[in-house]
Amino acid sequence: MLDLSTDVRYIKGIGEQRAKALAKLNIRTLRDLVSYFPRAYDDRREYQKIRDLQPEDTACVEVMIAAAPTLSRIRQGLELVKLRAVDETGALDVTFFNQAYMKDQLHAGEIYTFFGKVEGTGRRKSMSNPVVEREGSRVVTGRIVPIYPLAAGISQSLLIKAVGQGLQACRDLLPDPLPSDIQQSRQLCRTGYAYSQIHFPDSEETLAIARRRLVFEEMFLLAIGLRQMRGRRDVLTCQPYKNMDLSDFYGSLPFSLTGAQRRAVEDVLSDFSAGRPMNRLVQGDVGSGKTMVAAAAIFCAVRNGAQAALMAPTEILAEQHCRGLAPLLEGLGISSLLLTGAMPARTRRDALAKLKSGEARVAIGTHALISADVEYEHLGLVVTDEQHRFGVNQRAALSAKGERPHLLVMSATPIPRTLALMIYGDLDVSVIGELPPGRQKIDTFAVTGAYRQRIYRFLGKEIAAGRQAYIICSMVEENDAVPDDRKAAAGYAEMLQTKVFPELRVACVHGRMKAREKDAIMASFAAGEIHILVSTTVVEVGVDVPNATVMVIEDAERFGLSQLHQLRGRVGRGKHKSYCILVSDNKNEEAQARLKVMAQTGDGFKIAEEDLRLRGPGDFFGQRQHGLPALKVADLTCDVALLKEAQAAAAELLERDPNLESCPVTAQRVREMFEAGGDTLN
Ligand code: ADP
Ligand code: MG
Repeated sequence: MLDLSTDVRYIKGIGEQRAKALAKLNIRTLRDLVSYFPRAYDDRREYQKIRDLQPEDTACVEVMIAAAPTLSRIRQGLELVKLRAVDETGALDVTFFNQAYMKDQLHAGEIYTFFGKVEGTGRRKSMSNPVVEREGSRVVTGRIVPIYPLAAGISQSLLIKAVGQGLQACRDLLPDPLPSDIQQSRQLCRTGYAYSQIHFPDSEETLAIARRRLVFEEMFLLAIGLRQMRGRRDVLTCQPYKNMDLSDFYGSLPFSLTGAQRRAVEDVLSDFSAGRPMNRLVQGDVGSGKTMVAAAAIFCAVRNGAQAALMAPTEILAEQHCRGLAPLLEGLGISSLLLTGAMPARTRRDALAKLKSGEARVAIGTHALISADVEYEHLGLVVTDEQHRFGVNQRAALSAKGERPHLLVMSATPIPRTLALMIYGDLDVSVIGELPPGRQKIDTFAVTGAYRQRIYRFLGKEIAAGRQAYIICSMVEENDAVPDDRKAAAGYAEMLQTKVFPELRVACVHGRMKAREKDAIMASFAAGEIHILVSTTVVEVGVDVPNATVMVIEDAERFGLSQLHQLRGRVGRGKHKSYCILVSDNKNEEAQARLKVMAQTGDGFKIAEEDLRLRGPGDFFGQRQHGLPALKVADLTCDVALLKEAQAAAAELLERDPNLESCPVTAQRVREMFEAGGDTLN
């Protein structure tokens, strides 16, 4: 008797080899198999008579083979099986390339269905490599056929057959995670029907019905999990902070905070005084001044007796934060220190001792802040900068070093509205929707390599006026598995220095430099001693040199839109007019469209949504960026109405049964869904 946990090897036609290949797709059991949903469908329902076939049509024909197929070897590596098939209206020539076995599988006088694209005109019509099926069997022809994501060693038709068998064996055993009243009130179909139809839809309508149910189910489970997480967090308590006076802090700044910054700070303060751990995301476009919000939070935490840690994704950023914040904090009587992986052992030992004793109140660093040997006297606040670069586990590890520390996450990655809807369930969000005053639009141009001389002349002019420039070149992938960004960036820098700007100072930073070298170069760029900095994307996030006004990005089509926006955000940070030049020789229409978006708008949210539209949700919703479990059918950007319904249903269920005692299947599925992602958002 087969059941859901039966190994796929029990399915006819799946042996050791194929089971191994399926395991690469995470298909091990029957349940895995039937839960492996198609990525698309091919409508093969239309049958035509040979007479009616038009070139370029794709259609099914039911035909008889007129004479035994012939096999010929044209040359080494090219075998042709040819045959002539007929129906009552005409004849069709069929050719198979390199499928010699077809000669023995197809028999004269028998009837088959061929599905393929029609070639040739008039009376000589033909198909090459059509899909073939015996008369009467309608597995891969004559219906809407699923298309699955594949792995080596597994073909579409094999998967189609296996899924078909799997469904037959266990479709009625599938447990239903939707409580029946919710199912009925929302008019959702049963789980068995949904699974059958998502794989082998009878029509567009039944596919839509199946999909609606599965999307609802997925969002419902996600919403339940998020609500439970929030519920667990709500019962945590901590000492409310008492001292909320930030006037010293404000007094020491060279500018006054924008309204949006102030509001974010107010949000943080109210979290601090609420008596439970803060879990807040501060979201603001590049250059919106998130660091100052973090600084205010750090100041307040320290004034209330806690230590604070600020974690950045790269050494360069950690060092920059340290350069910027240490003097500010020092002026307020708060001692801070830097902790990165690249520090000499002695400095590091010293730093660790100061954190443990509490002599240092603020630690600024990379993920070195969460290595096992780092101890704090009393870690009360953890700030992470550019959260999307951090793994969920790393944040969790840092949190574990304090007793329920407050968590503040800063991100420049605009979260599209629909996704925000979802994570607002667990994270409080402050949006800094305003840039500091005096910022100008960054003029952005998308050009081809033919403009390079003009670009260099323009660089020369800006530098003569006292400004500085970045040139980003993407990595070249040589034959080695690991792309070597040194060659590209260093070679480019050398060419510029010797051939184009011998009288200027050109320098280069890349990902494989020693942190100290990188730091030295960045510091000297920040000090204005270097005119042109050639770099890989190590400058992508956060680097702040207000005097830099030109950003040239070579091979711009290789970057995602959001990444380009981040890069562009490195200029336009001071009072000077700034420019971004995107160089691309790629003629691809989509690539061109993306660069055009960049030239047209400077709004990070618009760019993110456009990015999403052009690239699909895959990248954006990769677990690393937001910590949500991966979704199989739902697309959070498209299914907003359904998402809201699912959230309401989740709330309804938890209201009446907070521990899900009445629906163990639901509870189990929520656990499974979140297991993969861990207890994600703190
Ligand atoms: P991001 O949000 O990208 O992290 P930063 O915190 O690096 O932005 O701030 C960008 C620049 O704006 C920095 O040079 C910072 O000193 C400056 N800045 C921040 N807040 C203000 C403000 N209220 N007025 C003027 N300049 C500000
Ligand atoms: Mg920043």
